[in-house]
Amino acid sequence: MVSLGLKNKKYLEKIFLGIFFGFVFAIIFTVFTSKPSFHKNTKKIVSEKELISQYYEKAVFEKPKNLQTLNRMYSTVEKKSYRIPIVMYHYVEYVKDQGDTIRKSLDIIPSVFEKELKMLNDNQYKTIFVKEVPKILSGDTPYSSRSAVLTFDDGYEDFYTDVFPLLKKYKVKATVYIVDDFIGRKGFLNEKEIKEIIDSNLVEIGSHTLDHFYLKKSPKSIATKQIIDSKKILENKFNIKIETFAYPFGAFDQYSLDTVRSAGYTAAVSVIPGIWQSGNNLFYLSRFRAGSFSYDNIIKFFENYKNK
Ligand SMILES: [Zn+2]
Repeated sequence: MVSLGLKNKKYLEKIFLGIFFGFVFAIIFTVFTSKPSFHKNTKKIVSEKELISQYYEKAVFEKPKNLQTLNRMYSTVEKKSYRIPIVMYHYVEYVKDQGDTIRKSLDIIPSVFEKELKMLNDNQYKTIFVKEVPKILSGDTPYSSRSAVLTFDDGYEDFYTDVFPLLKKYKVKATVYIVDDFIGRKGFLNEKEIKEIIDSNLVEIGSHTLDHFYLKKSPKSIATKQIIDSKKILENKFNIKIETFAYPFGAFDQYSLDTVRSAGYTAAVSVIPGIWQSGNNLFYLSRFRAGSFSYDNIIKFFENYKNK
């Protein structure tokens, strides 16, 4: 009886330990495999910090495996690639709050930005809009090996105060990706400023969804609305044609890519680092982050850049 009781006790201990560790494992598993749930409520007001810190989620930068396979299915022939550097900027300003490390890490100070523009001009680089890239890839517009594209995500107000005067000074073009709901919000471009930059003919406006929505694996109905409605709203508000799209956080999947294509956009930019563009990646054109090179070697960086 005694030995049987001891055995039972040990047996019960094992069961309890099993349940305990199973429980711990379940918690860990849930935490690590749960999908990021940004902006589930599409009307949620996001803080700027929350908005940009997500760029550091490396997972969203990677091209989904199934997309690579699907793209191979779409096209059995590898399309011709062109070397067209597309640079992705966020802030160009003198950051006031020195403790704001995220903003600082995404920032290029205006004097450095100006040197980059000067260097592009000095080296006969021609800046083009993102909407011109598909025309080059299809052969409708001649390709120059000295083409470069400057893109600015989110529509921060410093684009008007710091970037726009320099674009005018150096006659350089840029593409700005606007989030509809952010227009006029503190720290972002307002309607009047957007109208003025459009009238300069130096700026292409593209869509960046209704409220900076995380598209990868999101419900299809919401993704569709974010992609289609954001285009219509910008087109009606500014009486222009919106031709290109930027995925917030660089996050996309096959569904969002197909929706961008069928909504009538002609191209979309991703945050997958690279310099080669082709018909194969027309809806996730490669970009690299400003700041991955120093201002004094932007040209060298373009010319020596190798896709991994
Ligand atoms: Zn963004």
